[in-house]
Amino acid sequence: MASEVTFKEIREAVAKLCAEFPADYWRQCDAARVYPVEFVDALTAAGCLSVLIPEAYGGSGLPLGAACAILEEVHASGGNGAACHAQMYTMGTLLRHGSEAQKQRYLPAIASGELRLQAFAVTEPDSGTDTSRIRTRAVRDGDHYVIDGKKVFISRTEHSDLMLLLARTSERGSGDKHTDGMSVFLVDMRDAVDNGLGIQPIETMMNHATTELFFDGLRVPAENLIGEEGQGFHCILDGMNAERILIAAECIGDARWFVEQATNYACERRVFDRPIGENQGVQFPIARAHIQTEAAALMVREAAALYDAGQPVGSEANMAKLLASEASWAAGDTCIQTFGGYGFAAEYDVERKFRETRLYQVAPVSTNLILSHIATRDLKMPRSF
Ligand SMILES: Cc1cc2nc3c(=O)[nH]c(=O)nc-3n(C[C@H](O)[C@H](O)[C@H](O)COP(=O)(O)OP(=O)(O)OC[C@H]3O[C@@H](n4cnc5c(N)ncnc54)[C@H](O)[C@@H]3O)c2cc1C
Repeated sequence: MASEVTFKEIREAVAKLCAEFPADYWRQCDAARVYPVEFVDALTAAGCLSVLIPEAYGGSGLPLGAACAILEEVHASGGNGAACHAQMYTMGTLLRHGSEAQKQRYLPAIASGELRLQAFAVTEPDSGTDTSRIRTRAVRDGDHYVIDGKKVFISRTEHSDLMLLLARTSERGSGDKHTDGMSVFLVDMRDAVDNGLGIQPIETMMNHATTELFFDGLRVPAENLIGEEGQGFHCILDGMNAERILIAAECIGDARWFVEQATNYACERRVFDRPIGENQGVQFPIARAHIQTEAAALMVREAAALYDAGQPVGSEANMAKLLASEASWAAGDTCIQTFGGYGFAAEYDVERKFRETRLYQVAPVSTNLILSHIATRDLKMPRSF
């Protein structure tokens, strides 16, 4: 399959690295709800998390397609890239909108693994999906901005040195668009925690280091503003599109893992004196999941190619995320059905992957919001909000 031959060497290297973190490793992390530090360190040391950083700043300067190949392989091996994928998609904002001084200051340290940029803070409890209604404020005070407000479901903040933060710098409605008046800041977590920033972990259905953030007079140097004040939404869109494409690639990896597990199990498990996979009632749903996965993979590849060519990619990034997250969910459901009762037993890992992949129909953007984007932007149907 063409998608499997792209970035072949990278895929092989990642598969080899992932083999050192077998199913028991992920099962234990999941049961103890701990961050997979060893895995993230190994991926960092192998240079996988700095593939998008240009060579001039110490990275390997590869396209988004290469980052997709890495995350897809992590998931196809049974692992979970959610512990570290943000280091890739935050580059969409920092590389395209950061100043030269910011890039010189942070990128080489991120590329070497000395600094981690693993947190991206947008969602708030009261605004939900409507980002234009965020209430976290950044008010200029001399050569600093002072930040007050709350964020929710901000992942990996306890495992990151830096965080990209979206906050309002002027009131909603004061610009031409509702999304005007927001700005992006690079927050140094090492200075911020317990010094204007409080972090509260949120327990979730899967092992995902997500947190609530409380800002109370946090002072951020004005030089940490990324891009132009008030244009933050525009700056994070590049990060958000990259995020959707990368997460879609993870879903493709999950879907392929489910299809492989289901196929192997269906061929091995004997009931009524024959492999269950001989029954077309077992076989066909697996074949359908495979077809759905490979169709979604084509859209992920198309979206990554457009992103890498600097073309508008909003619709394709959304379509890729919707198709891939639905393919991985359908493959997971088929896998559980194929495993019967064993699909629910932790030692087979199917139930863990099933919980993990469910997230991607909700985050980073929910399916309804994607459908709304396509209906109103591409098909020009009337907007309901
Ligand atoms: C584990 C986890 C990790 C996360 N990590 C991060 C992170 O690192 N950074 C970050 O910023 N955010 C993060 N998020 C937040 C995530 O992006 C949001 O949960 C998601 O965007 C949905 O927002 P919400 O939960 O507020 O849902 P809501 O906006 O309250 O929506 C709830 C439901 O209503 C539907 N809905 C809402 N409005 C409409 C409409 N007009 N038409 C049709 N349906 C509608 C939605 O589709 C959704 O199904 C994370 C979330 C989770 C669960």
